[in-house]
Amino acid sequence: MRMTRLFLRTLRDDPADAEVPSHKLLVRAGYVRRVAPGIYSWLPLGLKVLGKVEAIVREEMDAMGAQEVRFPALLPREPYEATGRWDDYGPNLFRLKDRKGNDMLLGPTHEELFTLTVKDLYSSYKDLPLSIYQIQTKYRDEARPRAGILRGREFIMKDSYSFDVDDAGLVASYQAHRDAYVRIFDRLGFEYVIVHATSGAMGGSASEEFLAVSETGEDTFVRSPGGYAANVEAVTTVVPYAIAFEGTPAAHAEQTPDTPTIDTLVDHLNAAFPRDDRPWQASDTLKNVLVILRHPDGTREPLAIGLPGDREVDAKRLEAQVAPAEIEPFEANDFAAHPGLVKGYIGPGALGAESATGIRYLTDPRVVEGSRWVTGADVQGSHVIDLVAGRDFTADGTIEAAEVRAGDPAPDGSGPLELARGIEMGHIFQLGRKYAEALDLRVLDENGKLVTVTMGSYGVGVSRAVAAVAEYAHDDAGLVWPKELAPFDVHLIVAGKDETVVAGAEQVYDELIGAGFDVLFDDRLGKTSPGVKFKDAELIGVPTIVVVGKGFVDGVVEVKDRATGEREDVALADLLAKLRD
Ligand code: ATP
Ligand code: MG
Repeated sequence: MRMTRLFLRTLRDDPADAEVPSHKLLVRAGYVRRVAPGIYSWLPLGLKVLGKVEAIVREEMDAMGAQEVRFPALLPREPYEATGRWDDYGPNLFRLKDRKGNDMLLGPTHEELFTLTVKDLYSSYKDLPLSIYQIQTKYRDEARPRAGILRGREFIMKDSYSFDVDDAGLVASYQAHRDAYVRIFDRLGFEYVIVHATSGAMGGSASEEFLAVSETGEDTFVRSPGGYAANVEAVTTVVPYAIAFEGTPAAHAEQTPDTPTIDTLVDHLNAAFPRDDRPWQASDTLKNVLVILRHPDGTREPLAIGLPGDREVDAKRLEAQVAPAEIEPFEANDFAAHPGLVKGYIGPGALGAESATGIRYLTDPRVVEGSRWVTGADVQGSHVIDLVAGRDFTADGTIEAAEVRAGDPAPDGSGPLELARGIEMGHIFQLGRKYAEALDLRVLDENGKLVTVTMGSYGVGVSRAVAAVAEYAHDDAGLVWPKELAPFDVHLIVAGKDETVVAGAEQVYDELIGAGFDVLFDDRLGKTSPGVKFKDAELIGVPTIVVVGKGFVDGVVEVKDRATGEREDVALADLLAKLRD
């Protein structure tokens, strides 16, 4: 490819909406181009890299015995209706109508179609196990499309689905996918972790995520010295033992005026009601947070969450617990609708299915039987002290919605947790029989009995991987592709207008192509200075840069390693050998 022909304009400035390096660089270097929020075009350089990611994914999926298919992105409503996802997917689903008024959707993921197709064609245990996959465009109307192709509303996913007659088969299929994913992500080259995950709107049981470790990632994960690793959404709280409450003082309401926050409350308690053993602290208080759940059918349900006052509600943990419902703020008119709620002084007395408000009340797992709390007295300017869980109040259940903090114990006893950030690159699920049941996918087993098939579903963010690689494979000057993903093997630059030099560069170009290298040849003459060419080469990020300049008359060219910056004069005769190295 010659630069004078390549469909490319590199940009000097970062796009105005770009915050993360991959987004800035992929746009500036001419790999992708924004069309609308979360919707991008792939230009020649970008498409080449995308194709290389696809090739790696395809090779590893084929190697594990999965077969490639391609389903439509434009789909009828009915199968998604049957599984409940037409509604459960909520506003993330692109819904549309055809000219006859039929409801259609753009596929966000394809469990339904794969299940139905297997049902169409297969009817016996002899046909299973089966793993099929596609690499295909997906559509999700993300609330916050972000960081260019990292979170798009149109993006490319590899999704596979496994079908087995029994649980042991599912476990084997899951393990085979997990192994293939390890090989895929090893080849893509970024640092990644495999973490326990929640299965969210998918349903099903076991699930793990592959996260690329990155500061700019949207996922927070935890790990312990003993090897526990989980997405923060999936971390379970270590529950303290229940405490005997015989002999604890009765709860007593006290005046606590002007204590709207936990800090002001704790200060007031220490001044007016000091403890003899130790000062009051925020974790002695029970804070009650109200939110609104918006269910997929549009109904709004108030929910109260009780948690120790030293912890905030983690929005993502809460969302994962209440999916497919979404979280909305509890507004002034919601307070107006529940006069029993005294803002700033809400206590368990006003909460729970049995209370006057009837608001569902879920508490943090640390609120065990016998634990003693200071909490709102449901009266302006007043709190209750020594309110004992299980004696003075009982919640409707528990919820894992409190923030996880560094130093919290790992649920498996493997030590204190450390927090880090990552980009979700892959997600594997043991779906079980949810979809097969909803769509009635059954086969005859060995004994001639009809059994419901058990399924797994497995996704890789193919387009996201391009950005995730760029997230670590760059420096101040531009992209620095690993060899396996680079759009070209060699970036050849002619530095000079001198006839011999130009003819020399043409000759080197031909030789490299002849030797099987994929070459981008910056053959621009005219006004383009060598400096501009070097800058573009650094921005584009091909791993090896070959410069043909004045040295050519002495039979020498310069070879530069984009990653290390090392330059070396190489005799023409040795060039091919050097590059093959
Ligand atoms: P996220 O938590 O990032 O929204 P998800 O859990 O919704 O992702 P899955 O349904 O598990 O994603 O999809 C499988 C894979 O597809 C993800 O692991 C991710 O790599 C990729 N992916 C999901 N949503 C997007 C998106 N909006 N843009 C690009 N890639 C995506
Ligand atoms: Mg996921």
